[in-house]
Amino acid sequence: KSFEELKLRPELLQGLSVMNFRKPSKIQERALPLLLINPQRNLIGQSQSGTGKTAAFVLNMLSRVDLSTKQPQCLVLAPTRELARQISAVASLMGSFLADQGLQVTEAIPDPAKRGQQLEGQIIVGTPGTTMDMIKRRLLDAKGIQVLTLDEADNMLDQQGMGDQCTRTKRLLPNLKQTVLFSATFPPEVLNFATQFAPNANQITL
Ligand code: AMP
Repeated sequence: KSFEELKLRPELLQGLSVMNFRKPSKIQERALPLLLINPQRNLIGQSQSGTGKTAAFVLNMLSRVDLSTKQPQCLVLAPTRELARQISAVASLMGSFLADQGLQVTEAIPDPAKRGQQLEGQIIVGTPGTTMDMIKRRLLDAKGIQVLTLDEADNMLDQQGMGDQCTRTKRLLPNLKQTVLFSATFPPEVLNFATQFAPNANQITL
């Protein structure tokens, strides 16, 4: 299967071509049809880093954003700021041909210069604690968020309290339609968390 056959919007095909992504990786080929054809269905994916999972969930978000508003619509939670920064860079680059239509990808980091103004951007990427805090302080408007993606769930659960922060953040999203969770490994506690966090999910194992 090619990216064209996955019926991605032309601006994304352009972005992929500039990034030199010629054909979908296995996880992309399997995850994208599931995510795009059934935008309300959750997904749990087992996939190591290096397999292309970032592009899989980034393309899902970029395919769905409504560019007529800057209101946050998709939220990605990652275990570290470093990873959040990387994901946000991939999303900006892959979506670069949507920038002139208003695409904005924003990291959930409080900016003192913005003095209590809400974050703008259809796609928000952050770490669980900070993101939850920003929603509670109304620095991040959560009511338009329809897609929640959790990356490296196993690494998150290794950090004290982070699974709980994810769960509490999810409860602050009144209009959530789809939850996507990726993890490299699924020991029982991660599997247990995943099936509660993303109920009735399609599951992909590489
Ligand atoms: P990830 O597993 O998301 O960390 O991606 C691993 C690496 O593979 C990154 O450097 C991506 O840029 C690259 N990559 C992901 N998908 C593709 C693809 N379809 N074609 C070429 N490179 C890719």
